[in-house]
Amino acid sequence: MSTAKGYAALAPKAPLQAFSFERREPNDDDVVIDILFSGVCHSDIHQVRDEWFPGIYPQVPGHEIVGRVRKVGAKVTKFKEGDAVGVGCFVDSCIHCQTRDVDAEQYLPGLTQTYNDRDASGQPTYGGYSDHIVVKEGYVLSVPDNLPLDGAAPLLCAGITLWSPLKHWNAGPGKKVAIIGLGGLGHMGVKLAHALGAEVTVLSQSMAKKDDALRLGADHYYPTNDPKTFEALAGAFDLIINTVSAPIDWNAYLGLVKVDGTMVL
Ligand SMILES: [Zn+2]
Repeated sequence: MSTAKGYAALAPKAPLQAFSFERREPNDDDVVIDILFSGVCHSDIHQVRDEWFPGIYPQVPGHEIVGRVRKVGAKVTKFKEGDAVGVGCFVDSCIHCQTRDVDAEQYLPGLTQTYNDRDASGQPTYGGYSDHIVVKEGYVLSVPDNLPLDGAAPLLCAGITLWSPLKHWNAGPGKKVAIIGLGGLGHMGVKLAHALGAEVTVLSQSMAKKDDALRLGADHYYPTNDPKTFEALAGAFDLIINTVSAPIDWNAYLGLVKVDGTMVL
């Protein structure tokens, strides 16, 4: 066991406060990580406020974790002391499940979330708003040397949330991709789709974020508060990804998808 320092909500909707707790003794397949950065995801706010399901308290949020390896268990082969690593939204799954598919672990029973969950022994999991964490090797990711560690942290949740549909629907050269919304998720979508070689359009409520969108790599920018946008872009896109959490008029946006195109909600 090792004593960790972090920030926790002690009860639903309580503000975060300093909190000490015990991390488990590392097993042979565990990596002990000194946490340097943790992104702030809107999911953290939802869960601290107990808005999704009955939460576990005290609750230490944080599932966009980046740090350096402090030490590794005897059977760990992929990491060594000092490596830059990341941890995302989950830290275990049903490894003995007959139907286990390593590409879809997030859908399997036995999934253990990085925080606000219980591990296989029934102990609560605590997240990245803390100074260190103990995680099985299979749920630790390498962070390449060419990425700044602070900037890499949001890739662990916001990044993968946009990377997954972009790759699944083959965003790349010759593909026209629209990103609805330019917030925490949307800006990731713009940067990733641009890097994949797609022609990227941002659809945002007003012109307020145009400069940011173009700076991040968008090729085009249209305001959705102007009805002419929906006429000008009718049938224009191979892929539209919605990153807006508020209700929008799906029918209007469906009109912007090419025949056999895709809209991700
Ligand atoms: Zn998240």
